[in-house]
Amino acid sequence: MTTLHEQHDLDMPDVRHSLDHYYMVTQTDAEGLVLSVNKNFLNVSNWTPKRVLGKTIWQLFDEDEKAQNTIHHIWTQLQSGKTWFGTAQKQKRTGEPYFTNMLAVPSMEEDGSLARALFLELDITEDIRLKERLEQIAFIDIETGLMSRHKLESLVNDMIREEKSFSFVYLSIDHYYTLKELQNGTDETELTQAFANRMKRYFQDNPIARIGSSQFVILTPFGDWYVQGFLDFLEQQPLYIGSEALPLSISGGIVRYPEDQKSYVTLLEAAVMTLDEVRKQGGGKIVSLSATSHKVLNRRSLINRKLLTALDHKALEVAFQPQYDVASKQVKVYEALVRWEDEELGTVSPDELIPIAESNGLIANIGEYVLSEAARLAVRLEEQEGSPHVSVNTSVREFSNHPMKENMLSILQTEGCRPGQLELEITEKFAFRAEEEQSIIQQMKELQDAGVNFILDDFGTGYASFRYMQYLPISKVKIDKVYMNSLVSHPKTQQLVEGMIQFSKTMGLYTIAEGVETQAQFDLLVSMGIDAVQGYYIGAPVPAEKLHIRN
Ligand code: C2E
Ligand code: CA
Ligand code: CA
Repeated sequence: MTTLHEQHDLDMPDVRHSLDHYYMVTQTDAEGLVLSVNKNFLNVSNWTPKRVLGKTIWQLFDEDEKAQNTIHHIWTQLQSGKTWFGTAQKQKRTGEPYFTNMLAVPSMEEDGSLARALFLELDITEDIRLKERLEQIAFIDIETGLMSRHKLESLVNDMIREEKSFSFVYLSIDHYYTLKELQNGTDETELTQAFANRMKRYFQDNPIARIGSSQFVILTPFGDWYVQGFLDFLEQQPLYIGSEALPLSISGGIVRYPEDQKSYVTLLEAAVMTLDEVRKQGGGKIVSLSATSHKVLNRRSLINRKLLTALDHKALEVAFQPQYDVASKQVKVYEALVRWEDEELGTVSPDELIPIAESNGLIANIGEYVLSEAARLAVRLEEQEGSPHVSVNTSVREFSNHPMKENMLSILQTEGCRPGQLELEITEKFAFRAEEEQSIIQQMKELQDAGVNFILDDFGTGYASFRYMQYLPISKVKIDKVYMNSLVSHPKTQQLVEGMIQFSKTMGLYTIAEGVETQAQFDLLVSMGIDAVQGYYIGAPVPAEKLHIRN
């Protein structure tokens, strides 16, 4: 009789051979960097070994939010020593998506931390495409029997043509990914089907469509109270998976036709936006689009539409705000801030503009424009006493979707600007993403080697600011303006700010305070040992022509 152990050893070469023969195999290190891939992988994905080795596993997934959430979830599982099995949406070298059934397996160090990860995959793109085609023909979602999104669109268009009024209700299951994990053992289909059945029972004859893995749309002539009643219904009749009731949180947005929006696309857009608002406030509610968010939405879509033309016509401007260096009593840096004045929209503030540009992809164009204006100013400033630098705010989207480093250096070269004249301000959100994407840190390090300084902006507003300092190449921090209001009047704020300054100093970082508006704030900060000060007290942001530069 052979022992289990012996059998294991005997079969291993065969196992290895079979896996390699039938599956795509990818191996990464503990950071998610690709160590090896097999031939099957290369054939399906069109990657070449040279290009794929050293990339992160995140980059092999589709850029689409859902796919990124999946790998994020997979990676969390692996780090805690668990395997994962499911469908993954990957990206070929050409950017084209493909689908696989994936088994992800961790291999752990003795101390319980992740050592390596192994990914076994089978290409199921054809099956998925077939299912999509079937759904298109049949107009139904095969898993749940609900309408497909194609059917929904044509039905909405019919109802609009017939001038019927209705509520367009968009529902989504909150924390869907965590939920799936929670229900270890149940598959995704079972969960979705159970939820679909609850909806069918409550909404009865009102049309219901499934438009995403956990997103649904219901069309109903009834009012908000009826739709919101679904949450009570779910509470009274919870979902059971096996013998356990499933704690389910649902968020939703209701938009009315014809009062609120007049086409399928804008109904959907407005409903998604309403849902996002609900989620921001913690989820678990179904609300209708209020008159105010309506205005916001219309303004948003106007900004969205006009931005490209504005960029083309150079309608955006850049203002520069001085930063005063305490030791040398000189302005050593000017911060570039984007400005947009539009006839119809009035002033569009960067806080309004940047998130929209991030979601429509135009952030890259804005970034390039601001950077070249900044570089142009930096060249002029080089002649000045102390040759002041120019700092530019950067969005993480610029780094993660583009070869940012090359782009930047080539813009600087075009303008004849030395990289050492430039500083880049990054935010908490940026730092958070950089932690996950090795390629961002890599680009930052290369830029730093070329002479670019990095500043951690809005310091003190995020919970983990301190952590980022350990691994991001940062040389300055800027204490957020929220602390300035109560600085003079509140001893607690003073202690906090003083603590931040002390801490930065021990880390060898140059410390800046922003939003300084009064002499009292300025004096206090100087007495606490601040290195530089920025704010209306020193000077407001102004166009480059208004800066008093000699040459
Ligand atoms: P930020 O980087 O924290 O910029 C500082 C903001 O404070 C600016 O607002 C500035 O005008 C304002 N400010 C300056 N001095 C004072 C003061 O004494 N008191 C008060 N209360 N505020 C002061 P702004 O120009 O509206 O920019 C808002 C944010 O938009 C910026 O915050 C930055 O995160 C972002 N942003 C601006 N330009 C760009 C850009 O070109 N690219 C990217 N990615 N983001 C940008
Ligand atoms: Ca800034
Ligand atoms: Ca700031």
